[in-house]
Amino acid sequence: MPIQLYDSLTRKLKPLAPSQPDGVFRFYNCGPTVYAPAHIGNFRTFVINDVLRRLLELEFGKDKVRHVRNLTDVDDRTIGQTQKEKRPLAEITKKWTDHFHADCAALNCLPPHHEPTATGYIREQVDMIQVLMEKGNAYRAADGSVYFKVSSFADYGRLSRVRERELLVTDATADSDHKNSVSDFALWKAYKPEEDGDVKWPGPRGAGEGRPGWHIECSAMSKALLGDTIDLHTGGVDLLFPHHENEIAQSQCCNGKTFSNHWYHSEHLLVDGTTMSKSKGNYYTLGDLVAKGYSPMAVRYALLLLGHPRKQLNFTLDSMHAAQKALERIYAAMDRAGKDAGLAPGDFLRLPQADTSGIKQLTQANPFHRCWLSLCGDLNTPSALGEFFAGIHAFETHGVPAQFIKGELSLALTILWVFGIGLVKPSALQANAPVAITALAQKRWVAKQTKDFASADALRKELAAAGWSMLDGKDGYKLEPVKK
Ligand code: AMP
Ligand code: ZN
Repeated sequence: MPIQLYDSLTRKLKPLAPSQPDGVFRFYNCGPTVYAPAHIGNFRTFVINDVLRRLLELEFGKDKVRHVRNLTDVDDRTIGQTQKEKRPLAEITKKWTDHFHADCAALNCLPPHHEPTATGYIREQVDMIQVLMEKGNAYRAADGSVYFKVSSFADYGRLSRVRERELLVTDATADSDHKNSVSDFALWKAYKPEEDGDVKWPGPRGAGEGRPGWHIECSAMSKALLGDTIDLHTGGVDLLFPHHENEIAQSQCCNGKTFSNHWYHSEHLLVDGTTMSKSKGNYYTLGDLVAKGYSPMAVRYALLLLGHPRKQLNFTLDSMHAAQKALERIYAAMDRAGKDAGLAPGDFLRLPQADTSGIKQLTQANPFHRCWLSLCGDLNTPSALGEFFAGIHAFETHGVPAQFIKGELSLALTILWVFGIGLVKPSALQANAPVAITALAQKRWVAKQTKDFASADALRKELAAAGWSMLDGKDGYKLEPVKK
């Protein structure tokens, strides 16, 4: 069964398929703005996209998926932060990029194939703006900024269904003083020394020095790395308007082609019934939850599996507790199944997790097959989890007949790989260690359990260089700061 996913543009379930003759599936996911820690709401979106990426790899093959996720390292928020802290933009964005990468690794998210930064693609953005000006879709304003002329694109509003009247009140992002129409949006923002400090680049011909608007960043990076037409574009629901609506307008007017064949938006994580957000300050980071004793894997489980990606999910510490318990149940059942299959622990942990040979050929009678069907049916993760536990329940209660056990095990492993749940049980974590250190320690623990001693030694050295030592016990490890 092909993967069916809701398409926000047509408001229908549609199959996902590569559209180019090379058979490569082109996937663009809007990445984080790196001026503050990403919170677990942001990570709900990134973990959902990680599962989508894994499912696409199972469907089309590992080498036939190209995944791009950008870093927004110049926009109003990042520049605002440099002003607040009186530190260079690059210093701030590097700090939060490193933080983001450490959290992604701890949450077992596959790195995208390309992770472009907006500041690394200024020329491409300027070139696109230039074309839009030449084609009459953009104009230079009196202050040297460049705006997109919304009335020049007849399809504007197709994705978000905004009517002109609503547009007028919603678009508060750009400086309206210099625009011809209040619904036009900025492609290039003229340099303002008092706000921008030393953040500026030469602008498109006829415009002054300045910096790109946020929306053009994704259009330009997507075009540079994936071409004019892509197969899937995703992000959280807040990006649908104006960000994605504006990306469509810019890309289609510039390139004269459909920008994305499929649009998918996942819903927000709430806290106390309201959206978790950096600007509201009502958020938890992964580090906050690790400090409370929850493993990153339990956080991944809670964000991914406790609610449908297209429904809002209310975050509570009780749900974290439930996630931790459920994970323990999975590890115990898998452990037992490994033993029933006659596998030594080291061999069991080395089994290939993403072996897809079996899962597509089965019948609906198999719970792991039904689990995969739920994932292929609009990424229904709670339903998939229910089916997965039906399979786990069989391992726990009746065991599995000897002749089936290896087959069943490999199906369960495939599903765990798509969920992104590793096989090695997270050890008790040191509450005061930073996430980057716990991620390294967990990686080393996995290497040791799978008898990859060379990697384990190298990781121990990396930890020591960062000032931490790892004391190994039989069932887990302890992290301690190295005494000076
Ligand atoms: P930002 O770093 O603000 O640019 O956001 C990065 C990603 O996180 C975007 O795809 C947002 O749509 C998404 N996002 C922001 N807040 C939440 C939330 N509370 N729940 C889920 N996703 C979110
Ligand atoms: Zn974007």
